[in-house]
Amino acid sequence: MPDPYLPELTTFALNDDETTVVTEALKASKPWDWKPACPVKKASLKSAKDKILAFHLQRHNHTCCYCKTGLKAAGPFMTDREHVLPKSKAQFKAFSYAIWNLGVACKRCNMQFKGAADGFVVSKVDQVAFQTSENYRFIHPNYDRWGDHLTRFDAGMDEKKLVVFFNPTDSEKGQYTKEFFKLEQLSLNSFDEGQGLKTTDQLSRAAALVLQLAKLFGQPVP
Ligand SMILES: [Zn+2]
Repeated sequence: MPDPYLPELTTFALNDDETTVVTEALKASKPWDWKPACPVKKASLKSAKDKILAFHLQRHNHTCCYCKTGLKAAGPFMTDREHVLPKSKAQFKAFSYAIWNLGVACKRCNMQFKGAADGFVVSKVDQVAFQTSENYRFIHPNYDRWGDHLTRFDAGMDEKKLVVFFNPTDSEKGQYTKEFFKLEQLSLNSFDEGQGLKTTDQLSRAAALVLQLAKLFGQPVP
């Protein structure tokens, strides 16, 4: 399957100094959190991590790879470099700097739901499968095109904002992603906080309105 995002994963490259320091980091007990004492190595490791971040931000157009929340306005403190196969699990440590295993996520998805969970991984031992879409129950940040599984519709005015997630193709991965990251909560919170909508009736009317808008924008909706 062709890479669903640009720039393609195969175009990612670290320079010699960055490669050397990453190789050294991978020997540490916690490769991603390893802190070299040498300032030159420290700078090279930082530049490798910055490069990874910038690369994945570009691939997902500065949105969270799981919920599509915009990260540009949220700023660097809301943006996490995401390890799909969690870096905290011993068997996945070797993939701490593997570009295919990395992405960018919002703090909500990464900290609140993802953490060290690995129930979304189909095979935890077949290393060849690690680099395929089929091995992940949710939408993989590098092997699946998010929009093939879910549609996120945002509508906003001043401080009011509506967020609705659709699964127009009844995608299993889309459904799993919605449940795993509790994306419905984002919709409900947006209705609740943004609009002050309290009743089910108001909520469903607002949802119908968003649906109409989504159709207007040519989005695939149910
Ligand atoms: Zn997110």
